[in-house]
Amino acid sequence: MSKNTKIHECDVLVIGSGAAGLSLAISLAKDDRKIIVLSKAQIGAGSTNYAQGGIAAVYNTEDDHDSVAEHVRDTLIAGAGICDESAVEFTLKNAHDSIAWLIEQGVPFDEKEEAYTKEQSPYHLHREGGHSHRRIFHAADHTGHTIQETLNKVALANPNIEILTNYHAIDLITTRKLGIAGNRVLGAYVYNNNDDCVETIKAKFTALCTGGASKVYQYTCNPEVSSGDGIAMAWRAGCRVANMEFNQFHPTTLYNQNDRNFLLTEALRGEGALLKRPNGTRFMPDYDERGELAPRDIVARAIDHEMKKLGVDCMFLDISHKSPEFITKHFPTIYERCLKIGLDITKQPIPIVPAAHFTCGGVMVDNHGRTDIDNLYAIGEVSYTGLHGANRLASNSLLECVVYGHAAAKDIIARLPLVSNIPDLPTWDESQVTNADEEVIIQHNWHELRLTMWDYVGIVRTDKRLERALHRINLLKDEVQEFYSNFRVSKNLLELRNLLQVAELIVKCSMNRKNSVGLHYNIDHLEAPTDKKPTILSPFEK
Ligand SMILES: Cc1cc2nc3c(=O)[nH]c(=O)nc-3n(C[C@H](O)[C@H](O)[C@H](O)COP(=O)(O)OP(=O)(O)OC[C@H]3O[C@@H](n4cnc5c(N)ncnc54)[C@H](O)[C@@H]3O)c2cc1C
Repeated sequence: MSKNTKIHECDVLVIGSGAAGLSLAISLAKDDRKIIVLSKAQIGAGSTNYAQGGIAAVYNTEDDHDSVAEHVRDTLIAGAGICDESAVEFTLKNAHDSIAWLIEQGVPFDEKEEAYTKEQSPYHLHREGGHSHRRIFHAADHTGHTIQETLNKVALANPNIEILTNYHAIDLITTRKLGIAGNRVLGAYVYNNNDDCVETIKAKFTALCTGGASKVYQYTCNPEVSSGDGIAMAWRAGCRVANMEFNQFHPTTLYNQNDRNFLLTEALRGEGALLKRPNGTRFMPDYDERGELAPRDIVARAIDHEMKKLGVDCMFLDISHKSPEFITKHFPTIYERCLKIGLDITKQPIPIVPAAHFTCGGVMVDNHGRTDIDNLYAIGEVSYTGLHGANRLASNSLLECVVYGHAAAKDIIARLPLVSNIPDLPTWDESQVTNADEEVIIQHNWHELRLTMWDYVGIVRTDKRLERALHRINLLKDEVQEFYSNFRVSKNLLELRNLLQVAELIVKCSMNRKNSVGLHYNIDHLEAPTDKKPTILSPFEK
């Protein structure tokens, strides 16, 4: 039996403590509602903490003469015709209230330094690629960190919220899994990494707020936690997923084998940095007349193509022809960060690779954040709402977390009085498993999976590459499933199991899409889609 069979009980279990999880938890934690928030690492270890640019919203139409209709139009254009227009309108109409809520919680968005009229808001707004107006709320260039810190403080001070850190959700407990009619979620089994044991959480409602799945790729600028756990758990429990083929890659991140890939802003290329091969020659003019200033996806594809053609690990981004004063004044963070690994960017080119950045698809939800399973919600990057379509408009993702966090809270509050108590649940059974004999299998499979995904299911795909990837993934899945059935769970094993599930979903969605659009580019199907349909997979149609 398990070392510890502790059972927790709450009204709402929120799995994840980023912008999505905390927006939901804080909005729910009033009256006598009891909320448990899980984080598989420290409270602020998700992507939210790393968001630099900001959060998009039309807050005041007098600001830059903007309108919700224009924000909708920009989002639909970025999504390349594959967005769900009703979800786009729903999200962007609610953007004003989400910003107002964040301000109310204490988020210190930058204010204007220049004079403004009394009809305008006091906030300083940035404009980003794809946005026709200035509408990006920001806190310098660390907006995500500021939002996360503010929400952490509010959540930690709320007596209705219990935050369990280093608690890793393993799987949802549902009536279907227990052989009871219907499919309602009753809570989850969670691995307590502090005490190395599995515990049970009973909850009337559960929300997956676990972030994206970019860690499935060899190179990613996402933090360690982005292993698609929520998508895998929802799939295993019976939820549909959609649009998993649309993975956003940032073209230029610092290549450093011993570290997470650090994002190198596109402003570097805007200020004259040149992309070069290892022999110092430029290659972008061979791909696009705009050279280094071509759009993100074209630059990412060109880098990928050169790396594969030359069989090298990275390309280079060179700004050393500019004066040291210019570089250190305009790019102080990048200069310092590179110096830390012994690289002086005023003298040397920067080794770069494209890296997985954002998961556009995920667990299918409606405008309340409800999934296919009764009382189960999915909020934030884990979900597919229809907002992003085939490509995400910059700074719309933090907004999605807050808008849907609030929508779900409203829905749960209305439904909570109607939900009966959760029956006793079976505790986690470890009677058939032993301690793992060889952790090396996990490490090996982990590397193989991420490299396979990078090489075969990355920026440029072909039918053959996808087939090869699926074949490898199936073999790895069998091995890991055997391991999972025989040995006690560990953090790495749980993540690998989820990454394999998510990888399979990405490959299957990619195989189902017989055209190229937005972030999905398949050389064997370069034609544009003839309809706007998302790619939907159901666990009940194998
Ligand atoms: C470098 C970078 C820059 C970005 N810049 C911007 C930007 O400027 N604007 C913008 O809008 N978006 C930006 N994004 C995207 C945006 O940050 C994310 O989409 C958003 O923060 C996702 O929030 P989330 O709450 O859904 O997930 P996250 O913030 O990733 O949080 C996930 C949470 O789930 C927990 N978790 C995961 N699995 C489990 C499990 N099994 N059990 C328990 N807990 C679990 C994690 O511990 C974490 O607490 C950026 C992303 C990156 C990586």
